[in-house]
Amino acid sequence: APAETPQVVIDAHGLPYLDPKLPVRKRVADLLSRMDLAEKAGQMTQAERGAVGAGGDIAAYGLGSLLSGGGSVPTPNTPEAWARMIDGFQLRARATRFQIPLVYGVDAVHGHNNLAGATIMPHNIGIGASRDPQLAEDTGSVTAAEVRATGIPWDFAPCLCVTRDERWGRSYESFGEDPALVESMETMIQGLQGRADGRDLKRDDKVLATAKHFVGDGGTAYGSSTTGTYTIDQGVTTVTRQQLADIHLAPYRTAVRRGIGTVMPSYSSLDITGDGRGAVKMHARGDMINGELKGRMGFDGFVVSDWNAIDQLPGDYAAHVRTAVNAGVDMMMVPYGYKDFAGALVDEVEAGRVSERRIDDAVSRVLTEKFALGLFEHPYADTSGAAAIGSPAHRAVARKAAAESQVLLKNSGNVLPLRKSQKVYVAGSNADDLGNQTGGWTLTWQGSSGNVTSGTTILQGLRRAGGDVTYSKDASAPTGGYDVGVVVVGETPYAEGVGDVGNGHDLELSAADKAAVDRVCAAMKCAVLIVSGRPQLIGDRLPGIDALVASWLPGTEGDGVADVLYGARPFTGQLPVTWPRSGAQLPINVGDASYDPQFPYGWGLTTRTAVPKGGAATLRALAVAAATAERAHAGRTGRELVTRARLLVQEKADGHLTEAVAKPFADADHLLLTGRYGKAVEKLAEAYRAA
Ligand code: BGC
Repeated sequence: APAETPQVVIDAHGLPYLDPKLPVRKRVADLLSRMDLAEKAGQMTQAERGAVGAGGDIAAYGLGSLLSGGGSVPTPNTPEAWARMIDGFQLRARATRFQIPLVYGVDAVHGHNNLAGATIMPHNIGIGASRDPQLAEDTGSVTAAEVRATGIPWDFAPCLCVTRDERWGRSYESFGEDPALVESMETMIQGLQGRADGRDLKRDDKVLATAKHFVGDGGTAYGSSTTGTYTIDQGVTTVTRQQLADIHLAPYRTAVRRGIGTVMPSYSSLDITGDGRGAVKMHARGDMINGELKGRMGFDGFVVSDWNAIDQLPGDYAAHVRTAVNAGVDMMMVPYGYKDFAGALVDEVEAGRVSERRIDDAVSRVLTEKFALGLFEHPYADTSGAAAIGSPAHRAVARKAAAESQVLLKNSGNVLPLRKSQKVYVAGSNADDLGNQTGGWTLTWQGSSGNVTSGTTILQGLRRAGGDVTYSKDASAPTGGYDVGVVVVGETPYAEGVGDVGNGHDLELSAADKAAVDRVCAAMKCAVLIVSGRPQLIGDRLPGIDALVASWLPGTEGDGVADVLYGARPFTGQLPVTWPRSGAQLPINVGDASYDPQFPYGWGLTTRTAVPKGGAATLRALAVAAATAERAHAGRTGRELVTRARLLVQEKADGHLTEAVAKPFADADHLLLTGRYGKAVEKLAEAYRAA
């Protein structure tokens, strides 16, 4: 606890809500019965740390929560400074009538990404590529441990967005385009929060998690936003009721089952075909927040708005407040406008336009999570876990994640894995750039190129692996006795919005990247790695590239990428999104009627084993065995059988990915994720025949 002594206004000692032995339900009811309307409205208010100065307003407005927006960090940016800062704010909160602690939140979307020296995981798209639920859970556990050790009990993650158009600038925050894939990666919630019943939230290495952005954030249409021709972030998602349920709502049902503590509505609007309402902002959709989420799914945590999102609702400020609260939003992220919110809400209640019951429900939900986190008993930072931040053990998890996230799209002549005896020429804009490799939401909101934190670049990883490596960023003079070139290209960091789409290169590599690929691949055998938040168009260059790897945004551990490049670990990743041939195909998704991508959803070669021998007859036998495994609920066997079938197809089809191959191939991966192993192998047999 900080040195300063809290100014306790009343002696709350002995009141039932302070008794940790009472059930949470009773504690909440007791505390609520003592609070006045202004205090309740305060609990529903969340302000930015940078807006409250030393924190005087926390007590003045009875603020329930503070956040650090992306890159809003203390100086120095150390675990101790975070803990001291939050303790200072907490002290202010405790100097109120009922000493209600604050709940402090950050966006730790791939590790504790606001903290210098933290372990940075691959962004979610890479986690989706791993197809490894245990890995998703482990990365969540490391993130939670590092976040909580700095005094922060709440993480605005994971994004359950199902990205349906890769021009969306948040595609990398998505586990992938298939809701079944997103659902399978929601083990991350257990990593973050612990047990589904919330009893682990008191632990010093767990945090309250947030499923975001409810609902349909990944489904917005290109160019549909009113704010710009190219903006699809925060735009309109137009779907039938069935599509809404199957694609976008499904991951929330799973999250509720997994005990998710909070949910954040999306900035986007939802337009349900045929319901006559047109596009309505999600923060105003009571049918979704009250109806689907809290009603039908039974979500009992609290709903926190997105940053200033109520300002985007129609009408005056009173209407914004009333609309969002009545739709079911329990806490308002009003980072700089926190002084206005509670007063406006109280006026709306007094005017009878918002019911006191709704307020009590909202505040009960918020208080319930604060009790669950143990904040009343332990409001101050427990930094005993701080030694583990950026530790070898945590980096080992991130390294494994980086390795498992790599997707080998092409490997002619088995250029990969590299051999230590080979002379390797490394080039390209993203070979030696930690900032580009970690992407957006890293130290700053947008992220930035360069030496942003501590870690290992891909180039450093290759060198540390003991390779005979020469490096030239711009690939100048790539001649003279090299065995293999490794060209690492791709995107520079961005967050939200659309990234560089719309600036003339829609998922296109930059001119410098293209030149580097061309120079190296003309001079020697080459492996091209694309470090990016989404697919990049390769088009005509593909035949000239021997090996192609989708590296996504692998995080701080370039060693993990080196592990698969040198064969210390096999390539096992599979595409979490479809890899398009051209921009004209977008959006392109598994399940689409016309589907002719460069590489289908689920594609990914392996360097694990010699590819099994077999033909059509083998596939028929595999299909029978897989159907049997399915009936017996033998998941492991089923998955192995499907994997064998997939390898046979990949071996036969490599280089000839026609639509007749791609479509059943992609469908098979979806079927696998939903446990339909027999059908999955049948689809692969269809792909095999067409290959
Ligand atoms: C993003 C959210 C994030 C919030 C707080 C918003 O701009 O849409 O995902 O949680 O900022 O940083």
